[in-house]
Amino acid sequence: MSAIELRGLTKVYPGGVRALDALDLVIPDGEFFALLGPSGCGKTTLLRTIAGLETATSGSVVLGERDVTNIQPGARDLAMVFQDYALFPHMDVTDNIAYPLRIKKVAKAARGDKAREVGERLGLAQLMDRRPGQLSGGQQQRVALARVMATQARAFLFDEPLSNLDARLRLEARTFLKRLQRELGVTTVFVTHDQAEALAMADRMAVMEAGHIRQVGTPAEVFQRPINTFVASFIGSTPMNLLDAVVRGDSLEVSGCKVAVPESAAGLLTDGEKIVYGVRPEYMSYSAGPAEGALGGKVSIVENLGASHLVTLEVGTASVQAVVPEGREPVPGDDGYALPRADRALAYRDGDLVAA
Ligand code: ADP
Ligand code: MG
Repeated sequence: MSAIELRGLTKVYPGGVRALDALDLVIPDGEFFALLGPSGCGKTTLLRTIAGLETATSGSVVLGERDVTNIQPGARDLAMVFQDYALFPHMDVTDNIAYPLRIKKVAKAARGDKAREVGERLGLAQLMDRRPGQLSGGQQQRVALARVMATQARAFLFDEPLSNLDARLRLEARTFLKRLQRELGVTTVFVTHDQAEALAMADRMAVMEAGHIRQVGTPAEVFQRPINTFVASFIGSTPMNLLDAVVRGDSLEVSGCKVAVPESAAGLLTDGEKIVYGVRPEYMSYSAGPAEGALGGKVSIVENLGASHLVTLEVGTASVQAVVPEGREPVPGDDGYALPRADRALAYRDGDLVAA
């Protein structure tokens, strides 16, 4: 098991696409690290470059103490799980799991023992003689995981491993995978385009955009203090409210309403300057009557989230969303007031977070 360190890692594909642009990143030994970003931002390229399946244009990949930038993939001792699992359709579960050991020329009996041991651990004991075509999506995924676990990898690299599972299986697999990683303590890089998955699973995470890492932090840090408006709008199950605002003395004017300056930006804003005011729908308290410092308007849409509702208010020219607990939700056409939490609201200047 090893830490992973990337130094100035750059990948330019033939034809000129700069998929990775001078990335620096350190993932400590044993960490579960999630890599999040929209399609095409370079996540797969980053994983493949760590694995050695793509050669870096410049920069380096260091595993533990060892610079592996020019080392063949097979000699890096990394295990990668792909989105489509890449199982061999003509081999049974035992042989699929044992395949990497066969490549390493481990004796047949020892391979079988190891495959059974790992298969048992992943709840595959009854399925060892089946072929992938005779397994459900969730079972195939476990076989792919088992294959990775059968090898002594220094790190696990996962490329959107849950994206082919249906919603419920996906939640189960998420918890399962997380528990497994905890038990094994193997450094893990987990690529996803699903922010909920990243927030739920990661010890730390990075948000990528167009070949760059925009923010690295714990899920709580990234959720509560997105460093720019791109990250702010990408993270969260309901998008953050990002509203044009003007600084007026010690408060802000937002679409005709007067709200408090975010605590994190106190003393850092200039009177009269234009900023973007950010507050998550979850960090609003909602009332039917006027409240000091609230954004007031007419309710246009009420969406049922299960145990709560997402209420959209038309405030002047802006739309503002607030999460309202079950039983207190309004109906469209009502007057409504959303009071932001000053300790959770944020200010963005030219797209970047204003904070000490
Ligand atoms: P992601 O996994 O985040 O969706 P990728 O790493 O697959 O992103 O792709 C990043 C960028 O590199 C995209 O613009 C993609 O079109 C480009 N790209 C990926 N693979 C190749 C390749 N083999 N040749 C040329 N361009 C590529
Ligand atoms: Mg990809």
